[in-house]
Amino acid sequence: MSHVFPRHTKSAPPMVARGQGVYLYDTNGKRYFDGSGGAAVSCLGHGDPDVTDAIKTQLDAVAFAHTGFFTSEPAETLADLLIEHAPEGLDRVYLVSGGSEAMEAALKLARQYFLEIGQPARHRVIARRQSYHGNTLGALATGGNMWRREPFAPLMIETTHISPCYAYRGQQEGESEWDYGQRVANELEAEINRLGPETVMAFVAEPVVGATAGAVPPVEGYFKRIREICDAHGVLLILDEVMCGMGRTGTLFACEQDGVVPDIAAIAKGLGAGYQPIGAMLCSRDIYAAIEDGSGFFQHGHTYLGHPVASAAALAVLKKLTQGGLADRARVMGARLQSALEAAFGQHPHIGDIRGRGLFRGLEIVEDRETKRPFAPERAVHKGLKKAAFEAGLICYPMGGTIDGRQGDHVLLAPPFILEDTHIDEIVAKLSTAFAKALPAS
Ligand code: PLP
Repeated sequence: MSHVFPRHTKSAPPMVARGQGVYLYDTNGKRYFDGSGGAAVSCLGHGDPDVTDAIKTQLDAVAFAHTGFFTSEPAETLADLLIEHAPEGLDRVYLVSGGSEAMEAALKLARQYFLEIGQPARHRVIARRQSYHGNTLGALATGGNMWRREPFAPLMIETTHISPCYAYRGQQEGESEWDYGQRVANELEAEINRLGPETVMAFVAEPVVGATAGAVPPVEGYFKRIREICDAHGVLLILDEVMCGMGRTGTLFACEQDGVVPDIAAIAKGLGAGYQPIGAMLCSRDIYAAIEDGSGFFQHGHTYLGHPVASAAALAVLKKLTQGGLADRARVMGARLQSALEAAFGQHPHIGDIRGRGLFRGLEIVEDRETKRPFAPERAVHKGLKKAAFEAGLICYPMGGTIDGRQGDHVLLAPPFILEDTHIDEIVAKLSTAFAKALPAS
């Protein structure tokens, strides 16, 4: 009997034995193509010697020293390199242990900022219905993933949700993509006015929506309009790049492609690439200055802030993404993956949309392509797909999203940036096998 909690499957999953490159191997010797990096974590693949060497070197020097007493060379260098490559305006880095912690820190920083500048009424958050921002109470409060939120609702901070930017389903007949983006962005302004601008603290969004929607990018102009609205009403823009950041979409920060700079950004997953648990919250000069010149102390903290070994791993990863050109490779290989998916499944009767940016791609599964009708939630199509793909030796990330209160299904792909063309063929072949097994014939 196993004492491990939680278990995601009723029967015990296979035991992982080792990882090499784009593959994971279980203890029976079966090989799996890691087509989703867990959930967009393993951007460098497995067994990268540069990252493991950096970890070993740091472990030999010092594993841990509390940030209440010390800083460390890897934490300092990592923060410098992040700021060097971050959108202009982001200026400080707060190193944590994962995505939820980064979002939690972002929300608390936003709140403290308004207290410091004498606007204590600003406490409300606006986010989008199609979103996930983490599982701790603050982050969960922000996300629009209703089934995850419901049991904990009474404990959470006040958040309201507007429409996502989801052109596949939201764009109306005769409406241009641009007009659609402006229309849904303008919902933010209406919501700020409804709540009272003096009470609104932040708007929170994933630039490219991950787990709840399957790599849905915004349309052109959407985030620029969002930025304008936030500025007009003194509302902070918090971008959650936990899943889509760190090169995943082909630029180090996904928001670079939308031409906006957030006041606060959260990153994680690809930052440690799975070699160590690490995340970070980045904030603007102004926000940092308000606290430095005010109380002088951000009222937050976790034991493992700026962990030296995690920082050393992330530094090695970041060097590969930036100096090693791997983020650029994600853009090039991502375009090839998109073409291969379109060629193979563009006419599939149950694939409604193939989308994404870089090596962050989603396929939306529908019962009827013409009407875009999803499968009934009871059929749990995404679960069948996950199982069939896994049996075929492909790890992908199928999920049931929420479409206007109904459940829909999608498959998320987020393979390592080191993949080659032959691996794209392998993904397509294994996905075909899984679709043939888990989806109806027509
Ligand atoms: N934000 C986004 C967009 C995520 O996808 C996730 C995790 O999937 C999180 C936050 C939470 O990150 P973590 O699971 O590392 O706490």
